[in-house]
Amino acid sequence: MVLSYPSPQRLTVTQAEYQRAWVEINLTTLADNVRQIKRLLKPQTQLMAVIKADGYGHGAVMTAKTALQAGADWFAVATSQEGITLREAGIQAPILVLGAINSLEEIKAVVQYNLQPTLCSPQQALIFSDTLQQLGCDLPVHLNIDTGMSRLGTAWTEALEFVQFVRQLPHLELVSCYSHFATADDPDPSFMELQHQRFKEAIAQWQQHHLEPPMLHIANSAATLTDSCYHYDLVRVGLALYGLYPESHLRHKIPLKPALQIKARITQVKTIPPQSSVSYGRRFVCDRPLRIAVVGIGYADGVPRALTNQMEVLLRGQRVPQIGTVTMDQLMLDVTTIPDLQPGEIATLIGRDGQDVIPAEEWADKTNTISWEILCGFKQRLPRVYLD
Ligand SMILES: *Cc1c(COP(=O)(O)O)cnc(C)c1O
Repeated sequence: MVLSYPSPQRLTVTQAEYQRAWVEINLTTLADNVRQIKRLLKPQTQLMAVIKADGYGHGAVMTAKTALQAGADWFAVATSQEGITLREAGIQAPILVLGAINSLEEIKAVVQYNLQPTLCSPQQALIFSDTLQQLGCDLPVHLNIDTGMSRLGTAWTEALEFVQFVRQLPHLELVSCYSHFATADDPDPSFMELQHQRFKEAIAQWQQHHLEPPMLHIANSAATLTDSCYHYDLVRVGLALYGLYPESHLRHKIPLKPALQIKARITQVKTIPPQSSVSYGRRFVCDRPLRIAVVGIGYADGVPRALTNQMEVLLRGQRVPQIGTVTMDQLMLDVTTIPDLQPGEIATLIGRDGQDVIPAEEWADKTNTISWEILCGFKQRLPRVYLD
């Protein structure tokens, strides 16, 4: 009863010639980012590549294979289904499921596919142990300790009892205890330091009770880049793998390059007379004759409609303004500066064309969100094209 994760079409570069729009992913860049991050870590610190949400839109399987070759040791996904997709693609590295698993069916799938679950509470640990008793097998597990995120996990003040409880339950092999920062990308480190302090207090308690410590981890991309004091036994890195910085103050730490670009084709070029309005709701009206181009990409592909009249697109290495409401499948550009533009030419919506770059952060800033959401927003309708 395992459903397969809907995966976007995967195309070769030549097949992309016939596409209206696509996501282009440079695997060499992705591998370079992995190596840069590894270089930042002590030899004993392992790299857990976070490839939830289909590898932040990059394609989880291709990202996993590339990251493994470049030195990733572990993978983290959000759901058991995402883990199953990796196993079915032949990935054998350990996979941690970060999200909560509660149903009996899902526990069975986790066992069957050799995934490693997160346990958030003693009650959940008990359910797992009972189920494993019935199945007649053991399972490696990871405990989530809540130090201030107030999402999944057991409070750090009860971490000792949680660990002791799990240790005495049959069929559970405690592999790691971890926590998650709420503000690691904030230039003000005070709350991150408080969470870290709480994590250290929990660890100190285990030590006082002579509990053999499991593996420990707390760092996401931002904490990994911020300071090696957060690295512990492994780091859980998502955004930085894909070449984006969680915050601009972390840019100087290591050189990273975005692996993803968004490209779409010009489908029509024409001149419209003065006083014409462009697109739904007439939110753009021209006061002179205007050379416009239609591009075959829209909000159903992941271009936020909120970028209407605000975004720019790269054409022949120069920025041109987008005009009128972004529609479901198409958007329009003012191409006055490129009078001989032809249908079939490729527009770069995110990425580099010549000397200029439009980063995902630019969309995030303009739509008042974060680059994580922009990356995860590219829909299945856009085929993924991989460059080596
Ligand atoms: C998503 C996630 C990460 C990765 O976060 P980035 O900021 O993308 O590096 C790490 N840990 C947990 C628990 C997560 O949910």
